[in-house]
Amino acid sequence: MSLNDALKQRSLAHVWHPCTQMRDHAGANPELPLIPIRSAEGVWLTDFDGRRYLDAISSWWTNIFGHRHPAIVAALKQQLDTLDHVLLAGFTHEPAVELAERLVKLAPPGLTRCFYADNGSSAIEVALKMSFHYWRNSGCTRKTRFIALTNSYHGETLGALAMGGPSIYRDTYAPLLLQPIYVPSPDCYERAPGQSWEDYTRQRFRLMEETLARHADEVCAVIIEPLVQCAGGMRMYHPLYLRLLREACTRHRVHLIADEIAVGFGRTGRMWGCDWAPPDPRATDAQPGITPDFMCISKGLTGGTLPLAATLTRDEIYDAFYADYREGKAFLHSHSYTGNPIACRAALATLDLFESEQPLAQNRLLAELMWRQTAELRALAHVAEVRQQGMILAIEMARNARSKEPYPASERRGLRAYRHALSAHPDFGVLLRPLGNVIYFMPPYVITPREIEQLCTIALAAVREATRD
Ligand SMILES: *Cc1c(COP(=O)(O)O)cnc(C)c1O
Repeated sequence: MSLNDALKQRSLAHVWHPCTQMRDHAGANPELPLIPIRSAEGVWLTDFDGRRYLDAISSWWTNIFGHRHPAIVAALKQQLDTLDHVLLAGFTHEPAVELAERLVKLAPPGLTRCFYADNGSSAIEVALKMSFHYWRNSGCTRKTRFIALTNSYHGETLGALAMGGPSIYRDTYAPLLLQPIYVPSPDCYERAPGQSWEDYTRQRFRLMEETLARHADEVCAVIIEPLVQCAGGMRMYHPLYLRLLREACTRHRVHLIADEIAVGFGRTGRMWGCDWAPPDPRATDAQPGITPDFMCISKGLTGGTLPLAATLTRDEIYDAFYADYREGKAFLHSHSYTGNPIACRAALATLDLFESEQPLAQNRLLAELMWRQTAELRALAHVAEVRQQGMILAIEMARNARSKEPYPASERRGLRAYRHALSAHPDFGVLLRPLGNVIYFMPPYVITPREIEQLCTIALAAVREATRD
């Protein structure tokens, strides 16, 4: 038996894999091949037989500077020689302090307080609890609900899952979950033929405005993914929505939670999704970008090496919790590994790379190249749309590209593309884990023009294969 097969068997005997129907891995010719990875470097993963896979989705959007980046590896080794872990309640340490300082400098202006968690879902839980608790501490006990967008995704723990739109992730657990007030997403895939993104977004925003007007007195916060609803199929909307929403939240006294877990750290072409908001036309110092009341970050934060997350917020929120202990206003939330020093060190090394490598400028060229290299793909009969925002490029396959009639989910077209991309080429595979009928690229920023060419060639073949009847 090959080393690949041996590890596969051991994995299937005891590991319950995430987000997986385990039976898809069963048998000699499984629906979904399980791939044992032995090592990784840059954008490449290597299995036990020496076959290489281009990690076109940055291992679930986490790995922004390539695998085992030497600068991050060195920083981790050094940190391990000094301090492994210490609780962050009653104690503090340099990596957590320095990271908070630097995140505050990097974040939209006004986000001055940093609360750590160890995964994205937990950062969302923190924001939801803090928002509710802020209103409570401020004597506003009627505010107990949240507004969320349809087609959104905010994680898997019960609070975060509840904020996601109805979906295969959420529906099973619906009886257990908080019920947000849903507002239809500004997702521009749904716009009428010929309508501009900006027009459609402005039109959709009216539904948000109406909902805020009706429910503001019972609502703690609106939660959104800025610009791109990633798990919802990389659906995108015009940044005008962010400006309008910021203004409306302030006017209605409702918090704005920006879930930057997927789009943060340069993925959309600017550091934060929130940075794309057009300037407020009434402001004298008309600057682009908005400041949410809470900003949740994770995924790219450690360059894809270790789990870490943070929820950033404003002084005004922090101050509502700051009181004599006996007033019972403190935020009594914690995770065992809150602010783990090794993870914080990885994050600091990642932030250093943003300074030394200036990836955002380079990414503009790579993003243009991705667009140019997908010209043939855009012309395929069953491709309804190819959309792009910075280093995210999504290909929407549909039964009828003109009417956008989707392929039924049961046909698992995306999975067909996935399998083809992994196995068809004799020299290497491409990892293109789909979202339903959507194939997307979300590569590490260190991908080279040559690798983009390879990626696009394989993706073209994979989409052709998946849309063959
Ligand atoms: C991945 C993701 C989360 C959840 O983060 P986990 O670390 O997987 O818990 C939340 N929101 C968005 C937008 C995400 O993409």
